[in-house]
Amino acid sequence: MTPFSYETAASEADAIEKARTGGRYIAGGTTLIDLMREEIERPARLIDINKLPLGEIREEADGLVIGALTKMAEVAAHPAAARVQPLLIEALLEGASPQLRNMASIGGNLMQRTRCVYFRTLDAPCNKRVPGSGCAAREGFHRNHAIFGTSEYCVAVHPSDLGVALVALGATIRTKGPEGSHEFPVDALYRLPLDTPHLEHRLLPGELITEIRVPHGAYARRARYLKMRDRASYEFALVSVEAALDIADGCVREARLSVGGVGTKP
Ligand code: SF4
Repeated sequence: MTPFSYETAASEADAIEKARTGGRYIAGGTTLIDLMREEIERPARLIDINKLPLGEIREEADGLVIGALTKMAEVAAHPAAARVQPLLIEALLEGASPQLRNMASIGGNLMQRTRCVYFRTLDAPCNKRVPGSGCAAREGFHRNHAIFGTSEYCVAVHPSDLGVALVALGATIRTKGPEGSHEFPVDALYRLPLDTPHLEHRLLPGELITEIRVPHGAYARRARYLKMRDRASYEFALVSVEAALDIADGCVREARLSVGGVGTKP
Protein backbone atom coordinates (compact mmCIF):
# COMPACT_ATOMS: atom_id res chain seq x y z
CA MET A 1 0.00 0.00 0.00
CA THR A 2 1.31 3.45 -0.90
CA PRO A 3 2.05 5.60 2.20
CA PHE A 4 -0.60 8.17 3.11
CA SER A 5 -1.36 10.64 5.90
CA TYR A 6 -4.46 10.36 8.08
CA GLU A 7 -6.39 13.20 9.74
CA THR A 8 -9.70 13.46 11.57
CA ALA A 9 -12.10 16.25 10.58
CA ALA A 10 -13.28 18.32 13.56
CA SER A 11 -16.22 19.95 11.76
CA GLU A 12 -17.89 20.04 8.37
CA ALA A 13 -16.01 23.25 7.51
CA ASP A 14 -12.73 21.65 8.58
CA ALA A 15 -13.46 18.55 6.47
CA ILE A 16 -14.37 20.61 3.41
CA GLU A 17 -11.22 22.72 3.69
CA LYS A 18 -9.00 19.66 4.12
CA ALA A 19 -10.60 17.88 1.16
CA ARG A 20 -10.58 21.01 -1.02
CA THR A 21 -6.82 21.15 -0.63
CA GLY A 22 -6.22 17.57 -1.72
CA GLY A 23 -7.60 15.33 1.06
CA ARG A 24 -9.83 12.38 0.37
CA TYR A 25 -12.85 11.61 2.55
CA ILE A 26 -13.07 8.27 4.30
CA ALA A 27 -16.07 7.01 6.29
CA GLY A 28 -16.69 3.24 6.47
CA GLY A 29 -13.82 2.59 4.07
CA THR A 30 -15.42 -0.54 2.65
CA THR A 31 -14.57 0.44 -0.94
CA LEU A 32 -11.63 2.77 -0.57
CA ILE A 33 -9.47 0.58 1.67
CA ASP A 34 -9.88 -2.37 -0.73
CA LEU A 35 -8.81 -0.20 -3.65
CA MET A 36 -5.86 1.22 -1.70
CA ARG A 37 -4.65 -2.27 -0.78
CA GLU A 38 -4.74 -3.21 -4.45
CA GLU A 39 -3.07 0.14 -5.32
CA ILE A 40 -5.92 1.00 -7.68
CA GLU A 41 -6.33 4.17 -5.65
CA ARG A 42 -3.39 5.95 -4.03
CA PRO A 43 -4.70 8.95 -2.05
CA ALA A 44 -1.87 10.79 -0.30
CA ARG A 45 -4.08 12.19 2.44
CA LEU A 46 -7.17 10.67 4.09
CA ILE A 47 -9.70 12.80 5.97
CA ASP A 48 -11.72 10.72 8.43
CA ILE A 49 -15.23 12.22 8.66
CA ASN A 50 -16.75 9.71 11.08
CA LYS A 51 -16.91 12.21 13.96
CA LEU A 52 -19.12 14.65 12.03
CA PRO A 53 -22.76 14.81 13.21
CA LEU A 54 -24.21 13.31 10.04
CA GLY A 55 -25.55 10.03 11.40
CA GLU A 56 -29.16 10.93 12.16
CA ILE A 57 -32.34 9.45 10.65
CA ARG A 58 -35.50 11.52 11.08
CA GLU A 59 -38.98 11.68 9.61
CA GLU A 60 -40.17 15.08 8.42
CA ALA A 61 -43.54 16.11 7.05
CA ASP A 62 -42.43 15.60 3.46
CA GLY A 63 -40.15 12.62 3.78
CA LEU A 64 -37.39 10.64 5.43
CA VAL A 65 -34.05 12.35 6.03
CA ILE A 66 -30.97 10.14 6.32
CA GLY A 67 -27.62 11.53 7.40
CA ALA A 68 -24.83 10.63 5.02
CA LEU A 69 -22.80 8.89 7.74
CA THR A 70 -25.66 6.64 8.82
CA LYS A 71 -24.65 3.01 8.45
CA MET A 72 -26.58 0.84 6.01
CA ALA A 73 -27.53 -1.45 8.91
CA GLU A 74 -28.89 1.46 10.96
CA VAL A 75 -31.22 2.53 8.15
CA ALA A 76 -32.31 -1.06 7.48
CA ALA A 77 -33.26 -1.47 11.17
CA HIS A 78 -34.91 1.93 11.66
CA PRO A 79 -38.67 1.72 12.42
CA ALA A 80 -39.62 4.89 10.52
CA ALA A 81 -37.65 3.80 7.46
CA ALA A 82 -39.31 0.38 7.48
CA ARG A 83 -42.76 1.94 7.85
CA VAL A 84 -42.57 4.63 5.16
CA GLN A 85 -39.92 3.34 2.76
CA PRO A 86 -40.01 -0.48 2.62
CA LEU A 87 -38.33 -0.46 -0.81
CA LEU A 88 -35.30 1.22 0.68
CA ILE A 89 -34.99 -1.51 3.29
CA GLU A 90 -35.20 -4.27 0.68
CA ALA A 91 -32.48 -2.64 -1.39
CA LEU A 92 -30.21 -2.22 1.63
CA LEU A 93 -30.65 -5.81 2.79
CA GLU A 94 -30.02 -7.10 -0.74
CA GLY A 95 -27.10 -4.77 -1.28
CA ALA A 96 -24.42 -6.06 1.07
CA SER A 97 -23.47 -8.67 3.65
CA PRO A 98 -24.25 -7.95 7.34
CA GLN A 99 -20.58 -7.16 7.98
CA LEU A 100 -20.50 -4.59 5.20
CA ARG A 101 -23.86 -3.11 6.25
CA ASN A 102 -22.43 -2.53 9.71
CA MET A 103 -19.49 -0.56 8.32
CA ALA A 104 -20.62 1.14 5.12
CA SER A 105 -22.16 4.60 5.26
CA ILE A 106 -25.09 5.67 3.11
CA GLY A 107 -23.07 8.43 1.46
CA GLY A 108 -20.19 6.07 0.78
CA ASN A 109 -22.52 3.50 -0.72
CA LEU A 110 -23.55 6.00 -3.36
CA MET A 111 -19.90 6.82 -4.09
CA GLN A 112 -18.67 3.22 -4.42
CA ARG A 113 -16.74 2.41 -7.56
CA THR A 114 -17.35 -0.13 -10.28
CA ARG A 115 -16.67 -3.84 -9.87
CA CYS A 116 -15.31 -4.14 -13.43
CA VAL A 117 -12.51 -6.69 -13.10
CA TYR A 118 -10.23 -4.74 -15.43
CA PHE A 119 -10.62 -1.59 -13.36
CA ARG A 120 -9.17 -3.63 -10.48
CA THR A 121 -6.36 -5.20 -12.52
CA LEU A 122 -3.36 -2.89 -12.68
CA ASP A 123 -1.88 -4.25 -15.92
CA ALA A 124 -5.17 -4.10 -17.90
CA PRO A 125 -6.06 -1.09 -20.07
CA CYS A 126 -8.84 0.86 -18.38
CA ASN A 127 -9.95 4.37 -19.31
CA LYS A 128 -11.59 4.81 -15.93
CA ARG A 129 -8.38 4.05 -14.01
CA VAL A 130 -5.90 5.49 -16.53
CA PRO A 131 -7.60 7.90 -18.96
CA GLY A 132 -6.67 7.19 -22.58
CA SER A 133 -5.34 3.67 -21.93
CA GLY A 134 -8.26 1.82 -23.56
CA CYS A 135 -11.05 -0.45 -22.33
CA ALA A 136 -10.20 -4.12 -21.86
CA ALA A 137 -13.83 -5.01 -21.19
CA ARG A 138 -14.99 -4.20 -24.71
CA GLU A 139 -13.23 -7.28 -26.10
CA GLY A 140 -12.74 -9.19 -22.87
CA PHE A 141 -15.02 -10.58 -20.15
CA HIS A 142 -18.10 -8.37 -20.04
CA ARG A 143 -20.99 -10.56 -18.95
CA ASN A 144 -21.70 -8.26 -16.00
CA HIS A 145 -21.27 -5.04 -17.93
CA ALA A 146 -23.70 -2.34 -18.95
CA ILE A 147 -26.08 -2.26 -21.89
CA PHE A 148 -27.48 1.22 -21.16
CA GLY A 149 -25.55 4.48 -20.99
CA THR A 150 -22.36 2.99 -22.42
CA SER A 151 -19.74 4.63 -24.60
CA GLU A 152 -16.82 3.30 -26.64
CA TYR A 153 -14.64 4.38 -23.72
CA CYS A 154 -16.35 2.48 -20.89
CA VAL A 155 -19.13 -0.06 -20.34
CA ALA A 156 -18.81 -0.47 -16.57
CA VAL A 157 -21.91 -0.87 -14.42
CA HIS A 158 -22.59 1.29 -11.41
CA PRO A 159 -22.78 -1.19 -8.50
CA SER A 160 -25.00 0.50 -5.90
CA ASP A 161 -28.36 -1.19 -5.14
CA LEU A 162 -29.23 1.74 -2.88
CA GLY A 163 -28.71 4.20 -5.72
CA VAL A 164 -31.21 2.32 -7.86
CA ALA A 165 -33.79 2.47 -5.05
CA LEU A 166 -33.23 6.15 -4.41
CA VAL A 167 -33.67 7.02 -8.08
CA ALA A 168 -36.97 5.11 -8.18
CA LEU A 169 -38.13 6.92 -5.05
CA GLY A 170 -37.25 10.38 -6.37
CA ALA A 171 -34.72 11.02 -3.58
CA THR A 172 -32.45 14.05 -3.44
CA ILE A 173 -28.96 14.63 -2.08
CA ARG A 174 -27.84 17.59 0.00
CA THR A 175 -24.21 18.62 -0.07
CA LYS A 176 -21.95 21.27 1.42
CA GLY A 177 -18.77 22.41 -0.22
CA PRO A 178 -16.45 25.30 -0.99
CA GLU A 179 -19.22 26.85 -3.09
CA GLY A 180 -21.97 26.48 -0.47
CA SER A 181 -24.89 24.07 -0.09
CA HIS A 182 -26.66 22.28 -2.90
CA GLU A 183 -29.56 19.88 -3.32
CA PHE A 184 -30.18 17.81 -6.44
CA PRO A 185 -31.82 14.51 -7.44
CA VAL A 186 -29.78 11.34 -6.83
CA ASP A 187 -30.09 10.68 -10.56
CA ALA A 188 -28.16 13.90 -11.23
CA LEU A 189 -25.24 12.82 -9.02
CA TYR A 190 -23.88 10.46 -11.67
CA ARG A 191 -22.32 11.22 -15.03
CA LEU A 192 -22.48 9.04 -18.11
CA PRO A 193 -19.03 7.76 -19.12
CA LEU A 194 -18.91 9.44 -22.59
CA ASP A 195 -15.21 10.04 -23.34
CA THR A 196 -14.34 10.79 -19.69
CA PRO A 197 -15.26 7.66 -17.70
CA HIS A 198 -12.81 8.65 -14.94
CA LEU A 199 -15.23 11.49 -14.06
CA GLU A 200 -18.05 9.59 -12.35
CA HIS A 201 -20.04 12.23 -10.48
CA ARG A 202 -20.77 15.94 -10.32
CA LEU A 203 -19.31 16.67 -6.87
CA LEU A 204 -16.64 19.37 -6.75
CA PRO A 205 -13.34 18.88 -4.86
CA GLY A 206 -14.19 19.05 -1.17
CA GLU A 207 -17.96 18.79 -1.68
CA LEU A 208 -19.40 16.67 1.12
CA ILE A 209 -22.64 14.69 0.96
CA THR A 210 -24.50 15.60 4.17
CA GLU A 211 -27.89 13.93 3.83
CA ILE A 212 -30.28 12.03 1.60
CA ARG A 213 -33.93 13.08 1.48
CA VAL A 214 -36.47 10.46 0.43
CA PRO A 215 -39.88 12.04 -0.23
CA HIS A 216 -43.10 10.52 1.00
CA GLY A 217 -45.08 9.42 -2.02
CA ALA A 218 -48.21 7.40 -2.50
CA TYR A 219 -46.06 4.99 -4.53
CA ALA A 220 -43.53 4.51 -1.72
CA ARG A 221 -45.49 1.86 0.19
CA ARG A 222 -46.38 -0.22 -2.88
CA ALA A 223 -42.88 -0.93 -4.01
CA ARG A 224 -40.68 -3.96 -4.53
CA TYR A 225 -37.05 -4.58 -5.28
CA LEU A 226 -36.15 -7.62 -7.37
CA LYS A 227 -32.50 -8.56 -7.81
CA MET A 228 -31.15 -11.35 -10.00
CA ARG A 229 -27.57 -12.48 -9.30
CA ASP A 230 -25.28 -15.45 -9.74
CA ARG A 231 -25.60 -16.70 -6.14
CA ALA A 232 -28.07 -16.15 -3.33
CA SER A 233 -25.60 -14.76 -0.82
CA TYR A 234 -23.98 -11.34 -1.12
CA GLU A 235 -23.38 -10.61 -4.79
CA PHE A 236 -23.73 -7.71 -7.19
CA ALA A 237 -26.78 -7.59 -9.46
CA LEU A 238 -26.88 -9.12 -12.92
CA VAL A 239 -30.02 -7.07 -13.17
CA SER A 240 -32.23 -5.46 -10.58
CA VAL A 241 -35.56 -3.71 -10.91
CA GLU A 242 -37.28 -1.38 -8.53
CA ALA A 243 -40.94 -0.75 -9.10
CA ALA A 244 -43.16 1.63 -7.13
CA LEU A 245 -46.84 2.11 -7.94
CA ASP A 246 -49.45 4.60 -6.82
CA ILE A 247 -52.73 2.69 -7.19
CA ALA A 248 -56.16 4.14 -6.45
CA ASP A 249 -59.55 2.61 -7.26
CA GLY A 250 -57.87 -0.11 -9.26
CA CYS A 251 -56.00 2.36 -11.48
CA VAL A 252 -52.26 3.01 -11.60
CA ARG A 253 -51.90 6.76 -11.13
CA GLU A 254 -48.13 6.80 -11.14
CA ALA A 255 -45.48 4.18 -11.84
CA ARG A 256 -41.80 4.61 -11.04
CA LEU A 257 -39.22 2.15 -12.36
CA SER A 258 -35.49 2.01 -11.98
CA VAL A 259 -33.00 -0.66 -13.09
CA GLY A 260 -29.57 -1.62 -11.80
CA GLY A 261 -26.84 -3.97 -12.93
CA VAL A 262 -27.33 -3.01 -16.59
CA GLY A 263 -26.48 0.68 -16.69
CA THR A 264 -23.46 2.90 -16.23
CA LYS A 265 -25.61 4.80 -13.72
CA PRO A 266 -28.74 3.74 -11.81
FE1 SF4 B 1 -12.22 0.34 -17.38
FE2 SF4 B 1 -14.76 0.94 -17.86
FE3 SF4 B 1 -13.47 -0.52 -19.60
FE4 SF4 B 1 -14.03 -1.56 -17.21
S1 SF4 B 1 -15.50 -0.97 -18.74
S2 SF4 B 1 -12.06 -1.70 -18.33
S3 SF4 B 1 -13.92 0.29 -15.92
S4 SF4 B 1 -12.96 1.61 -19.05
